[in-house]
Amino acid sequence: MNADLHCHSTLSDGWLSPAEVVRRAHAHGVALLALTDHDELGGVAEAAAQAAALSMDFVTGVEISVSWRDETIHIVGLGLDPANPALLAGLAQVRSGRQARAEAMAAALERAGMHDVLAGARRQARNPEMIGRAHFARHLVASGLMPDVHTVFNHYLVRGKPGFIDHQWAALADAVTWINNAGGIAVVAHPARYRRLSTAALERLFDEFIEAGGAGVEVVAGAQTPDEMLRFATLARRRGLLASRASDFHGPEESLVDIGRCPPLPPDLVPVWSRLGF
Ligand code: AMP
Ligand code: MN
Ligand code: MN
Ligand code: MN
Repeated sequence: MNADLHCHSTLSDGWLSPAEVVRRAHAHGVALLALTDHDELGGVAEAAAQAAALSMDFVTGVEISVSWRDETIHIVGLGLDPANPALLAGLAQVRSGRQARAEAMAAALERAGMHDVLAGARRQARNPEMIGRAHFARHLVASGLMPDVHTVFNHYLVRGKPGFIDHQWAALADAVTWINNAGGIAVVAHPARYRRLSTAALERLFDEFIEAGGAGVEVVAGAQTPDEMLRFATLARRRGLLASRASDFHGPEESLVDIGRCPPLPPDLVPVWSRLGF
């Protein structure tokens, strides 16, 4: 089944509206889609309505920003109730830190010689509450200062670079609990991305994730290599985790893997959508 359970819209740092994301997924043959904006459920109603109009299966989703040790981890929640009060309150609290962070990022980038970056980044963020690093990167590209967003990230926006601001997101157990109490399934997003964690630390992350009630891992994820896919397929088997398939699509120009265009899951794994009624 062509299931794609991780992508973004203009409600966070995607380029397309929720309805445009759904239409693109449908055109690419996606049979089951989850929209998973960062820390935000505001796009779900529009996406669900467009999916229903196209007779495409759709599940509610969100990608929660988590701080674990000194790393940022992303936890995807799937099939949850988008009106759950504790989940909504938790996400609002996570989002609220983004304003002060954006101001600190702008000040840091200005110390590094750039001008007027906050206003420019704000123009890029269609949802003002969700201003993030991608909007700063896009502004610096749009203003001609930098060639592409990956270069901006590598030179300015990752840990150790002048525009990086350390930030405290949600606690791991809180994010998993919000998802579970809203009737959803918690999934570790793009596990190959956490390269700063040692093998032992990554195992510990999964220990704590499972202890908190987490159930899945993205075995197939956006830019993950075939070797990484095999590594996390092994981890899913060993840990008894459900497997997810995730393009992490942000936009046609910015994403390595387009929506619905990921490789299939290894056939022996239990797909997360089997627990979502598909
Ligand atoms: P934030 O939540 O503001 O820290 O932004 C995180 C987002 O930045 C991710 O979801 C990606 O969309 C984007 N991002 C992170 N690292 C990179 C990178 N190296 N190149 C391009 N985009 C990135
Ligand atoms: Mn993003
Ligand atoms: Mn992510
Ligand atoms: Mn994502």
